[in-house]
Amino acid sequence: MNLFVYCTREGVLWLIHGQDHILTQIKASLSANRLAHAYLFCGPSGVGKMCFAMDLAKAVNCVSDMEQPCGLCEQCVRIASKNHSDVRVLGVQNSDNDSRSRTVIGIDDVKEVLHKTNLKPFEGKCTVIVFDGAENLSTEASNALLKTLEEPAPQVLIILLTNNDANILDTIRSRCRSYTFNVLPKELITKILIDEYSCNSENSELIARLSRGSIGWAISAATNPDVLKQRDADLNHLQQTMEAGLVEKFDYVSELASEFGRNRDGVKDVLYLWRTWCRDLIILNMSSEEHVINSDKITMLKDQESNMNFRDISSFVGVVDRTIYALDHNVNPRLALENMILNMPKVR
Ligand SMILES: [Zn+2]
Repeated sequence: MNLFVYCTREGVLWLIHGQDHILTQIKASLSANRLAHAYLFCGPSGVGKMCFAMDLAKAVNCVSDMEQPCGLCEQCVRIASKNHSDVRVLGVQNSDNDSRSRTVIGIDDVKEVLHKTNLKPFEGKCTVIVFDGAENLSTEASNALLKTLEEPAPQVLIILLTNNDANILDTIRSRCRSYTFNVLPKELITKILIDEYSCNSENSELIARLSRGSIGWAISAATNPDVLKQRDADLNHLQQTMEAGLVEKFDYVSELASEFGRNRDGVKDVLYLWRTWCRDLIILNMSSEEHVINSDKITMLKDQESNMNFRDISSFVGVVDRTIYALDHNVNPRLALENMILNMPKVR
């Protein structure tokens, strides 16, 4: 998912949606000139952490005489288009210099970006370094970052983004000002899709229900048809896997485990989809169609619900939850996924 997708509404001041509790405090810090030298933004994927990091990068580099970030000056525009040499984003996906998949942000990449903190900003007023998925910093990389945080340089802002702050060293956490991002209510997501993305009301409501409060996912789904096509493909895979034998099930697990090395969020999205699907089967079993999330697939759900054991589905929801938790806590992905697939309910 392209997290910058909702960070480019040219000319709008702050692009973040639905995190007013954070925006109010950051604005107050900016106007009092009391910004921290390091921030930790914690919250689920797609709720606006990267968007807000870019907002903040613009705010500290904006050269407009009007309210900042203006979104229109050269600094703001270059940051929005990811072409600003003083704003660097480092994550698992983009730390990959040799095209092999990685699951950690390593020491070499961290040293290279931290070297910039010893230099004056090249084209703006402030160097901004964003660690995307800071929970994936290796121990060595965390220690290198800690040294920089202990001796903060002027004109440097460090922003750590994480969906799991329990995996961040206490010593790093204590040197950052922390903010927790909330999932967005589906009513707000629906409104944003209608008002800003010209999405019709029916599609907006469906996408908002499917989004799990992630505005990033919702905007991707509303603007890129491939996102909902991928959901259809993942649901078909789920159907086939439920009906498949053990060999095919393990083949699919193998695919998911390999994919996890390249695209953690993508694999977790598949698991979240399975969970909401099973939740819908339980809801239908209780004869309450009104609260079904995947309402556009109601016929498929009803067919499956009549052929499955309610208890098996309920216990599988718990297994999927535990698998997502395990993946977030660096358990071997193949083992976690194999354990999950062995507990998958069978279609009668
Ligand atoms: Zn500006």
